[in-house]
Amino acid sequence: MKGKNIVLFGPPGAGKGTQAAKLIGFLQVPHISTGDMFRHNLKNQTELGKKAQEYMSRGALVPDEITIAMVADRLSQPDVKEGFLLDGFPRSTPQAAELDNILSSLSIQLDYVINIAVSDEEVRARLSKRAEIEGRADDRDPAVIQNRIDTYKSQSEPCLEYYRPKNILVDINGTGTIEEIFERIKKALQ
Ligand code: AMP
Repeated sequence: MKGKNIVLFGPPGAGKGTQAAKLIGFLQVPHISTGDMFRHNLKNQTELGKKAQEYMSRGALVPDEITIAMVADRLSQPDVKEGFLLDGFPRSTPQAAELDNILSSLSIQLDYVINIAVSDEEVRARLSKRAEIEGRADDRDPAVIQNRIDTYKSQSEPCLEYYRPKNILVDINGTGTIEEIFERIKKALQ
C-alpha cells in the first residue's frame, strides 16, 4: 500500500464508523472521527460541544471555523506520524482544501480517500435501524435524516470531484455484509 494517511468518505449511514473500527485494528493508526469528537464534547458540555449542538441536532454541518480548528489541532498530535484514519472530515470542498493546507504544513501527504457508496434507500434503512440500536438523537427524526442526506448531496458529495483528479480516490461498493465491505477496502489498499 502507498501509505496509511487515509480519509474514509461516504453518506451518513454508509458504515464508515463500523469499517473504521475494523480498519484501525488492521492499519494500527488512530481513528479521527469529527462526529465522535463533537458528540464527546456535547456529552461533556464543553463550549465547543454547546456550539456544535444546534447544528448537529438539525443535521447541518458545524461551521468551518469550529470544525477546522478542531481537526488541525488533532492532526498536530504526535500519534498521527504513524498515519490516520479520518472519518467524517472533510465534508465539503472548502474543508478538503483546508485539509490539504493542514497536511502540507505538517509535511504529510494524503494517500487514499475511500468512498463507501450506498444508495439513498439503503441510507434511510440503515439510519432508522441504527436509531433503534445506538439511540443517536440525529438518527431518530425523519426530517433530520433527510436534512443530513440533503447536506451530504449538496455539500459533501462534491468532494469526490475534488479528489478524483488527484488519483487517490477509491470507490467501494458499500452494499453487502460488514465483512465483505471490509475485504473490499483491504484489497483496494493493497
Ligand atoms: P457523523 O457522526 O460523522 O455522522 O457526524 C454527526 C454530525 O456532526 C454531523 O451531522 C454534523 O452536524 C457534525 N459533523 C461531523 N463532521 C463534520 C464536519 N466535517 N463538518 C461539519 N460538521 C460535522
